Amino acid sequence: MRFDDIPGQQGVKDLLQAGYASGKIAHALLLSGPEGCGKLPLALAYASLLLCHQPIHNDACGTCPACLKVSKLVHPDLHFVFPVVNQGGDSDKNTTDHWIQDFRRAFLEQPHMELEDWRLAMNADHRQANISRAECYQILSKLGLSAFEGRYKVVILWLAEFLGDAGNLLLKILEEPPDQTVFILATAEPEQILTTIRSRARSIRVGPMDSESIRLALLEMDVQEQRAAMAALACEGNFHKALSMMNQEPFENSVRWTGFMRLAYSGQHSEAIKWVNQNSELGREALKSLLDYGLQVLRECYLYREIQRDPRSLREDEKEFVYKFSPFVSALALTAMQSALEKAAYRMERNGHIRLVLHNLYFDLQEALSSEKRRMAKASVSTARRLPKESMLQFPTR
Ligand SMILES: [Zn+2]
Repeated sequence: MRFDDIPGQQGVKDLLQAGYASGKIAHALLLSGPEGCGKLPLALAYASLLLCHQPIHNDACGTCPACLKVSKLVHPDLHFVFPVVNQGGDSDKNTTDHWIQDFRRAFLEQPHMELEDWRLAMNADHRQANISRAECYQILSKLGLSAFEGRYKVVILWLAEFLGDAGNLLLKILEEPPDQTVFILATAEPEQILTTIRSRARSIRVGPMDSESIRLALLEMDVQEQRAAMAALACEGNFHKALSMMNQEPFENSVRWTGFMRLAYSGQHSEAIKWVNQNSELGREALKSLLDYGLQVLRECYLYREIQRDPRSLREDEKEFVYKFSPFVSALALTAMQSALEKAAYRMERNGHIRLVLHNLYFDLQEALSSEKRRMAKASVSTARRLPKESMLQFPTR
């Protein structure tokens, strides 16, 4: 993994590379930033640079024996600490060493993986994951050995927020690390990390990825142009989310969403129940992606209504939906529908009953649209503005 392989984040790359070039290597770094900003790949690119035999322009070369080992996550001087499922009493199983093969597989499949992918890879279900005391003891004993290849020893502590009180065991080594030892902590929730640990690390804030870098990265992966543009806008700087969108069949979300909105608009309860029953089988990830998609389309409707912004990144059938639906997406309606979608996504993430979540979402959207229709009817009396007829709302169907 080289810095050059990671989309965007030029500011963070510059900071890390300048630190390396100056020769003043911080013994502990804390990379904090939201999901999908590229923390883990950035940590690995920095580790590659430290371990590379012949760096080029302050980036790893990508081809020397050290780089090849790092790229497979098998370099003997590169250690990982990450949360693992607690399997109960047997402490050996509650450590990274027990899970490292699964971790390598998951990472090589998707270097931008996040906690939910890792939990899936571990079959974690509802079980807790954490970084145990046994893990901390293990890392201390590994760092007691000298570096195999004579350069740095690097520890990547991924999802460091899971460290909890076990982190106390690492305070001393973070304060006075052995020579040539570098800790790279990556976290989405820095405030969950013990202050005593945070204060011992150089903190680098990683912001959301910029949408243009995401769009270009998707194009490089041969994603079709419009689809790349749409995902780059909708993912809100979360590259992980953009990649999951690529795993969805492109037309599915649009067909499902327009169908659902048509039912909410016309208040067809019995049809809505059928829709919910059919679609609740999709699984949480697909449904969360549908909700994200829905929110993005509603925002496009609002922008078209208010400032006539043409939804250029959308396909023709999606544009048609935006043109026809935008009269109903006032600021008030958008706020109500947005909070309904966010509430549904929140409940889904917390393992709420899917059918119930979708039913409630349907009623919330229906209520938001009915209120909007009432407001429009009132306004049409005072301003003689005509309410669009329901027959005009022929949503695109496939
Ligand atoms: Zn190299």
